[in-house]
Amino acid sequence: MSHTFCTYQNSIKRIVLLACIGLLFISCAGTEIEQTPKANAATSPAAKKVFRVAVQPYGGFPAAEVQQVSEALTSVLGVQVLILPSRPFPEWAFINVKTPRYRADSLLLDLKRSKAPDVYCVLGLSQKDISTTKRGTDGQVKQPESTYRDWGVFGLGYMPGAACVVSTFRLPKEKPSYLMRLKKISVHELGHNLGLPHCPTEGCVMMDAAETIKTIDRVKLAYCNNCWNAVKTKLKNKGFETGAGGSSGN
Ligand SMILES: [Zn+2]
Ligand SMILES: [Zn+2]
Repeated sequence: MSHTFCTYQNSIKRIVLLACIGLLFISCAGTEIEQTPKANAATSPAAKKVFRVAVQPYGGFPAAEVQQVSEALTSVLGVQVLILPSRPFPEWAFINVKTPRYRADSLLLDLKRSKAPDVYCVLGLSQKDISTTKRGTDGQVKQPESTYRDWGVFGLGYMPGAACVVSTFRLPKEKPSYLMRLKKISVHELGHNLGLPHCPTEGCVMMDAAETIKTIDRVKLAYCNNCWNAVKTKLKNKGFETGAGGSSGN
């Protein structure tokens, strides 16, 4: 979850990227399967909008892992999750500068463009490596440019915005922590979509991983009180129903 902020694209939205372990690491249509949050279906005022996100698996991302991520999002955020059918990676997102990868920023565009109007944002899931260009606070490509021009990441998300993407390529699948890492990175990137910056609170899932995967293992699968309150306020101001979820960790 080691993310650094990047001023990216059109300078309106910052993209936050997750980097890790020396290498650069860190983000519709069809039949939809809906998961209903356990707590708030019966108590939602009819006038309120439903807080709903979509999960878009790319390239046959394992269905069982999609399900696990979706359940984590519902548990932590009290959000309805629409699981979209897997679809192929867009060919125009492919790049082969260092190794064959898909550009995470291109996938964000792909997700944003195909987002249904009744979902707040879309989380893409990829087993393939994803990358972006790592920039400093001045907006310039970090040096050496050959390293940072195409930097592999765990995840990438608009902050705020309507799309984020997470890749499991750099998460060792044999580790017992694999699924929990995937869930935490997903909740983290979705937090960025909801406008949350990195958080200094120890244990908060929005902590900046500072380029080590150890941070991901150290944080909880939960927002701290400050982050959760910020999410609730934002959703309330936008007219969404709130009250479910909220597994606040601190
Ligand atoms: Zn981040
Ligand atoms: Zn926090």
